Amino acid sequence: ILNVRNLEKSYSSGSKRLKVLQDIHFEVEEQKTFAIVGPSGSGKTTLLGLCAGLDSPDTGSIELCGSELSELGEDERALLRNKHIGFVFQDFQLLPTLTALENVAVPLELQGDKNASKISKDLLEKVGLGDRIHHYPSQLSGGEQQRVAVARAFSNRPSILFADEPTGNLDAETGEKVEALLFELNKEAGTTLVIVTHDIELAHKTQHILRLKGGRIVENQEKQV
Ligand code: ATP
Repeated sequence: ILNVRNLEKSYSSGSKRLKVLQDIHFEVEEQKTFAIVGPSGSGKTTLLGLCAGLDSPDTGSIELCGSELSELGEDERALLRNKHIGFVFQDFQLLPTLTALENVAVPLELQGDKNASKISKDLLEKVGLGDRIHHYPSQLSGGEQQRVAVARAFSNRPSILFADEPTGNLDAETGEKVEALLFELNKEAGTTLVIVTHDIELAHKTQHILRLKGGRIVENQEKQV
């Protein structure tokens, strides 16, 4: 479902170019669970954004859900994202002027889904926020906002979900709830999971670990089951 070849990415900082990813090759098979780990600054978030088509690499190819991302225009990328991809950002990226329910429902409504409100309520129940659906992000704790972000990422029933530190801001109990939900989605709906995490226990629950260091892959390991 995801095939990354020969990827390179650098950012400019002043007059210099800072290489943050190089020589990146890997593949994620459909319905698998996949973790990207590595020290802070090793390029994990950058890689996740490239794979989800939120940003473009300098060189290399990314095939996602059967499409080569570099060959898609902005509109086609947006369509691919709406139809097939879920994303949970490290900083949630909820819209502050919308309630929890609206944050989950609005993307669905924009796609013309008549059941947007019902689907969204059910998802918020599932993440344990049934009694907070009319709260605004500013009225929710960090962990609660994180769970709204997870509910929103699930709402379009994505083929592949990219999650950047989905349990990073949560206490152990809430983290476990979110984690369980992610794996349940994988099991029941076959959603492929690609998770960036510092949580080694979470990483070990996935079927494949990719480890980055200084922008390069230092480990690419399928688990023996
Ligand atoms: P963390 O675990 O701390 O979130 P990470 O492994 O996800 O780190 P990235 O966020 O991908 O790392 O960052 C990789 C490198 O690229 C870092 O050195 C960072 O400072 C740099 N970087 C990230 N985004 C930009 C940007 N927009 N412009 C310039 N440099 C950037």
